[in-house]
Amino acid sequence: MGSLENDFPSSVIWKDDPKYEEARVGRVFNHRRPDRYPRAVVEATSVKDVVDAVLLARELNTRVSIRSGGHSWAAWSVREDAVLIDLGNFKRLEYNEEKSTVIVSPSTTGRILNTFLATKGKLFAGGHCADVGLGGFLLQGGMGWNCKNWGWACEKIIAIEVVTAEGKVLTCNKEENSCLYWAARGAGPGFPGIITAFHLEVRDSYTNMMSSTFMWPISQFKEVMDWVVKIAPQCDESVEVVSVGLRPDPTKEPVILAGFLSFQNSEEAARKSLALVNDNHPPGAIMEAMCSPTSLANEYRAQDLANPNGHRYTSENAYIENDANVSEILEEAFTTMPENTKTFALYFAMNPCSRRELNGMALSMQSDHYFALYTVWEDPKDDARCQEWVKRVMSGVEKHSVGAYLGDSDFQIRRTKFWGDSQARKLMHVRRDYDPEGIICGYLDDGDKSGVAGLDNVFEF
Ligand SMILES: Cc1cc2nc3c(=O)[nH]c(=O)nc-3n(C[C@H](O)[C@H](O)[C@H](O)COP(=O)(O)OP(=O)(O)OC[C@H]3O[C@@H](n4cnc5c(N)ncnc54)[C@H](O)[C@@H]3O)c2cc1C
Repeated sequence: MGSLENDFPSSVIWKDDPKYEEARVGRVFNHRRPDRYPRAVVEATSVKDVVDAVLLARELNTRVSIRSGGHSWAAWSVREDAVLIDLGNFKRLEYNEEKSTVIVSPSTTGRILNTFLATKGKLFAGGHCADVGLGGFLLQGGMGWNCKNWGWACEKIIAIEVVTAEGKVLTCNKEENSCLYWAARGAGPGFPGIITAFHLEVRDSYTNMMSSTFMWPISQFKEVMDWVVKIAPQCDESVEVVSVGLRPDPTKEPVILAGFLSFQNSEEAARKSLALVNDNHPPGAIMEAMCSPTSLANEYRAQDLANPNGHRYTSENAYIENDANVSEILEEAFTTMPENTKTFALYFAMNPCSRRELNGMALSMQSDHYFALYTVWEDPKDDARCQEWVKRVMSGVEKHSVGAYLGDSDFQIRRTKFWGDSQARKLMHVRRDYDPEGIICGYLDDGDKSGVAGLDNVFEF
């Protein structure tokens, strides 16, 4: 017959297949399922499957969408009428001891990679949520463990293996196909190809991880947030700094929490790293847990609890201007989250990472203060209430922002800047060069219209 549509192996699931609905959204983390229906889902397990899927889409005169870990909040992989390439069963994990590098397939999660690397005494600073796929995470930069000090996860990409929109297989690094290598570190879901492997540098693991966590009543919000913003840049380079507003009991008042996680190799060094915050935190805490020994596995469990499976989510975010009054700008977000939900507001200190110039990659947006909202609920009847709250909060915050992180954004809802101006222009050129027909779905904006043009990289206001 010679037609790919007819000859394609059993890994293609068409719309009339009983497995279709599970294949469409079964691996999508956000249970607020999209009303978008791919023409077919290809469960690829090899580079050849990916190439065949691209050729199939071309034959059908339609687009290709991609799923690695299924954790994009807006379910970017689920696109109307596209051929969805699901890489969940495409598994590759190879370690090179001599070079301290790994080759991983994009659906590999932080938990899988770090469980493997722990046996080698190594670590990769993947996403805080253990089950985020490296594919989506690395493409948008990757705000991984201790990003504030260790830098962006995508800075550890040495090379990528790519299937292009024409179905060609390329290796991309500093020397070969360097434009795609440049784009892969910061393009996010607009990368004009399908990555089938990442070659990554890994770091030595840490034998003594320790945390100090404090919780205050929300009435102390301003005092605590001002303190976190001030103390964060003074912490040593082993310490990740976060502040969270949440309702531990969803029916009661919120609290403000500050967490400091140190990656060290001796108990003494870890205690020393945390002494600054242990000795100087504001009085009045209703909970203090200083110098608690912890591990990556422990931290992943805490993240699992904060981001439970089977829930409905909306995320939003902003990089707040460096010299802004952070506590004033974030007060509404941290003190008014919707009752009877598991919503939390998060502040990540990014200085000193944010003070480095980012070179040689598309990733180009950062500031000292990263703010994100993770709105978490279960009942569809709360959709409007939760989404309206997010919209209201963001309309106040965005005026004080320099832009946003692709990873916690939904371009259907809000327009903002994701790159520096010149990097955005270059990225949209690279996309046009490598995918002039818009075969790869790209950025999901309102109505999924952005296509080859990509995003405008402008503020909404
Ligand atoms: C609970 C939770 C916690 C999170 N924590 C963090 C965190 O700590 N730090 C952080 O930076 N982010 C975090 N995120 C955001 C997350 O990194 C992004 O949503 C990311 O896009 C998820 O990647 P994925 O592969 O799992 O998603 P998918 O939905 O599978 O992929 C998203 C999109 O990326 C593109 N893409 C993915 N793989 C490929 C590929 N192989 N080739 C080409 N394009 C591809 C496609 O456009 C795809 O549709 C978190 C998200 C969740 C849900």
